[in-house]
Amino acid sequence: MRIDLHAHSTASDGTTAPAALVRLAADAGLDVVALTDHDTTAGWAEATAALPPGLSLVTGVELSCRWADGGIEMHMLGYLFDREEPVFAAERAAARTARVDRARRMVDALTADGVPVSWERVSELAAGAPVGRPHVAGALVEAGVVPDVPAAFADRWLGRRYRLPKRDTDAIEAVRLIRGAGGVAVFAHPRARLRGRTVPDSTIAALAAAGMAGIEVDHPDHGEADRAELRTLAADLGLVTTGSSDFHGANKPVRLGEHTTSAEAYERIVALSGSPPVRAAG
Ligand code: AMP
Ligand code: FE
Ligand code: FE
Ligand code: ZN
Repeated sequence: MRIDLHAHSTASDGTTAPAALVRLAADAGLDVVALTDHDTTAGWAEATAALPPGLSLVTGVELSCRWADGGIEMHMLGYLFDREEPVFAAERAAARTARVDRARRMVDALTADGVPVSWERVSELAAGAPVGRPHVAGALVEAGVVPDVPAAFADRWLGRRYRLPKRDTDAIEAVRLIRGAGGVAVFAHPRARLRGRTVPDSTIAALAAAGMAGIEVDHPDHGEADRAELRTLAADLGLVTTGSSDFHGANKPVRLGEHTTSAEAYERIVALSGSPPVRAAG
């Protein structure tokens, strides 16, 4: 079985529409793909409707979190939860609303420095998706300020200088929200430096104690040493380990299915969840 448990679509900051994403997953020889857009489940219906026979869809989300007040940034994946459950739904909605204000302020700072980008264009590029730095990056590319989206993440642009913090969910609260909606929580890319620092192992232990089921180990942002350490930690804590591409289409260089999850880990995630993965009708 080939299983990729982390991918983004145009429903957030990827460049592949949900329907095209599931077709691409089948073409890439995947048996299972998870759709984990930032802060939204808006792509689930389109992906479900377009599911090719033989491919299973793990419905999911990636929530931006923080460890302790004002602390380290991290991302939590939620899988196979009830999108109608009101408490978690309200948290995702609040995150999306806050993204608009933050993106507007980033655009304001750029225009104040004479950079030719507009909120109108950034908003058009987001096209209703939770707006993020990749959409601002797209406007910078269009304006000829940078050659491509990754270049817009340099320190002098959105990587540091014009980057503003997001409204983040407390990480322990995120685990509770995901579980409260019948889902399974997996810590996305624990060793990726989202803003300089990564959380210590004691934080992963605390999240595990709060009910987090697993950690992403095989990820493009993890080196071999990180992976080995994370595997040992997961074994100590009884956590599932996953592997995923974190596909973003043309916005990042990774291919869908470039990193994969074992069948055992996948089955454990499914067994812990309240809803089954989606299969094509008929
Ligand atoms: P935001 O959530 O608005 O802060 O934007 C974060 C998103 O930017 C991540 O989910 C990635 O999709 C994207 N991103 C972060 N760093 C880079 C990078 N170096 N190159 C391309 N995309 C990036
Ligand atoms: Fe992203
Ligand atoms: Fe992430
Ligand atoms: Zn992601």
